[in-house]
Amino acid sequence: MSTKPGYGKNKVILVICDGLGDRPSLPLDGKTPLQAAETPYLDEISKAGINGLMDVISPGIVPGSDTAHLAILGYDPYKYYPGRGVFEALGADMVLHKGDVAFRANFATVDEKMRVIDRRAGRKGSKELAEALNGLEIDGVKIYLENTTEHRCAVVMESKTVNLSKYVSDVDTHEEGGIVKKCVPLKDKEGEGEGEKKTAKIVNEFVRLSYEILNRHSENEERRRKGEPPANIILLRGAGSYVEVPSIKARFGFSAACVAGASLYKGVAKYLGMDIIPVEGTTGRADTNLNNKAEAALHALKTHDFVFLHVKATDSMGHDGDFEGKKNMISRIDKELIARIKDAAAYIVITADHSTPVSIKRHSSDPVPVVIKGAGVRKDRVNKFDEFSAVSGGLGRIRGIDLMPILSDFMGYYKMYGT
Ligand code: ZN
Ligand code: ZN
Repeated sequence: MSTKPGYGKNKVILVICDGLGDRPSLPLDGKTPLQAAETPYLDEISKAGINGLMDVISPGIVPGSDTAHLAILGYDPYKYYPGRGVFEALGADMVLHKGDVAFRANFATVDEKMRVIDRRAGRKGSKELAEALNGLEIDGVKIYLENTTEHRCAVVMESKTVNLSKYVSDVDTHEEGGIVKKCVPLKDKEGEGEGEKKTAKIVNEFVRLSYEILNRHSENEERRRKGEPPANIILLRGAGSYVEVPSIKARFGFSAACVAGASLYKGVAKYLGMDIIPVEGTTGRADTNLNNKAEAALHALKTHDFVFLHVKATDSMGHDGDFEGKKNMISRIDKELIARIKDAAAYIVITADHSTPVSIKRHSSDPVPVVIKGAGVRKDRVNKFDEFSAVSGGLGRIRGIDLMPILSDFMGYYKMYGT
């Protein structure tokens, strides 16, 4: 592996800690979880590297994890975002063709009046229940369904005769107690057309059929007997329309791999033509196996120029409003993950896809810290990796979309503009 900038091809490992950024917490002297955590290895990287703040989409825009990852991986989300469902389906290893419409979905529990009792069906789905619906055909549209983790599913609609559209509303009520919503056509750029109406109609028919088939399924009889909520309906949301996009290899010239647990991130990576490195024991929670992630990343570096490693748990704890949990998770990431991979590639980059402040339990537009360490970077005076120290770093303030061009130049895959 060459470490001379501009000569040969230097490898990069990019670590994205989901929702890592935060706001000052008043009960803790105004510190963020990242400031309060014990992070000797992250700080070592900051000391040796060039630091800055990153507006992942642009200032004031609150990123979703999907659009944020597109931007950081070099794809303008306003141009390339296909809708969430596409990533869920790709992440679940489902096959997509141009024009297919994909959804995120949940097994849920409803009563006979279609009132949502538990929108996660006790956080339990099953392959067998999914199989009972897989391959249904409605008005010339084939519907495929895969149970991913717990109650979560991905649904793909495929048709050679019907022009399907992603511009349809969610069926999911997003809260308990509500009545399952009717899917309605939304306006796309050309207004509400036939494709939207047709897709909405098929979604409604599918949801109705899912209840009819699942409610009387023997597995749900068994669940009722055990006092568990039946998984008796599929609720869809986040429609996306599949299109092929030029791969990272085609656009930047280097091979890329992804190490992630959750299907969304694997889906984004697949969409961009990255190879997915399998990794066991990832949960997205406090008990996630960081050791396996480190191993997988080290393994991936042998065969790929660029390795993207994702850690979800920091975001989950932000959503839970759990300061201690987020702080402890960051300390664990430092000790169990960063310590092991910090010198594995010519360049290491640490950042986040957005902030998820524990004080507001949602994503926010607060910019995230970013650091690049490796040969040739203009080392600055920052000596701690956190939201406040990064302000005085040499990278200044960049946008997510700027990161990949910066890295590809360090890696030796630059393209000169002009002569
Ligand atoms: Zn995120
Ligand atoms: Zn989140």
